[in-house]
Amino acid sequence: MGKRIVIALGGNALGNNLPEQMIAVKQTAKAIVDLIEEGHEVIIAHGNGPQVGMIQKAMAELTRSDPEKYIPCPLSVCVAMSQGYIGYDLQNALREELLDRGINKGVATVLTQVEVDPADPAFSNPTKPIGAFMTKEEADKMVAERGYNVIEDAGRGYRRVVASPKPQSIIEIESIRDMVSAGLVVVACGGGGIPVYKTEGHHLKGAAAVIDKDFASCVLAQQVNADTLIILTAVEKVAINFGKPDEKWLDSLTPDEARKYIGEGHFAPGSMLPKVQAAVEFAESAPGRSALITLLEKAKDGVAGRTGTAIHQ
Ligand code: ADP
Ligand code: MG
Repeated sequence: MGKRIVIALGGNALGNNLPEQMIAVKQTAKAIVDLIEEGHEVIIAHGNGPQVGMIQKAMAELTRSDPEKYIPCPLSVCVAMSQGYIGYDLQNALREELLDRGINKGVATVLTQVEVDPADPAFSNPTKPIGAFMTKEEADKMVAERGYNVIEDAGRGYRRVVASPKPQSIIEIESIRDMVSAGLVVVACGGGGIPVYKTEGHHLKGAAAVIDKDFASCVLAQQVNADTLIILTAVEKVAINFGKPDEKWLDSLTPDEARKYIGEGHFAPGSMLPKVQAAVEFAESAPGRSALITLLEKAKDGVAGRTGTAIHQ
């Protein structure tokens, strides 16, 4: 029986620049179409670190070239642009791979807004560095003129830091569900989603924030009622004592074990920790749900239970 699977693609599925992404998406599409061929319904989410960095830098240079003419581009708009650009490459690679295997299925990218809580404590403690390095003078100017938060980053210069609030809900969820039900392969929640919050009436305002793609994928998986959340990254399994002589790769993990290991500091914040937290939250969200963390190339083997770290109750 086919499952409904949300796949969260990490940085290695997309590469670091334009030519790398063109090549990387071909392998990514193969791994995804392997699952479709086996009868699973897939919904794809992805990160956007290098891509949104590139777009943000380009837009900042534009402003610098003529500040009167080009006002700074909001981060939420940069995230929207990154969803469009990554969706474009993924859509084409998936379309080609599906047609090559004789599978007649549409592929569509949904520009996805994800609601955050303006009272989220993350907003008073921005931690995520983004964009180019600045001199002290440039940084002071940004603080004064735009209210940016900046930090001095390890002696390399100054960088803007933004909040990484928790995703609350997905604005376009009904459209995503309808498209999945209609048999489309849907790409959604790119880069964790465009962060927005509700203001007066029905208005949504973009937030200067970056949502973690692992947490956004967890919300997406719950809201489309997926059976499985697969987080594809640069390691085949999750380890305890990672990188140490007594490193141990885990085949499975219960939520209680995960909480114990989290408490002992086994998972690095900003990389493996959000994945394990997202996996646990999804696995506990309803009976029968499970998560899997593995390598992109091992997605098919992982779904068959042959590798990866499975997280379930
Ligand atoms: P992605 O782009 O897929 O989100 P990240 O680099 O953010 O990838 O996270 C994956 C990385 O987390 C792995 O490549 C590995 O170096 C690191 N990592 C940190 N702690 C662990 C751990 N306990 N087990 C496995 N990998 C870990
Ligand atoms: Mg990551």
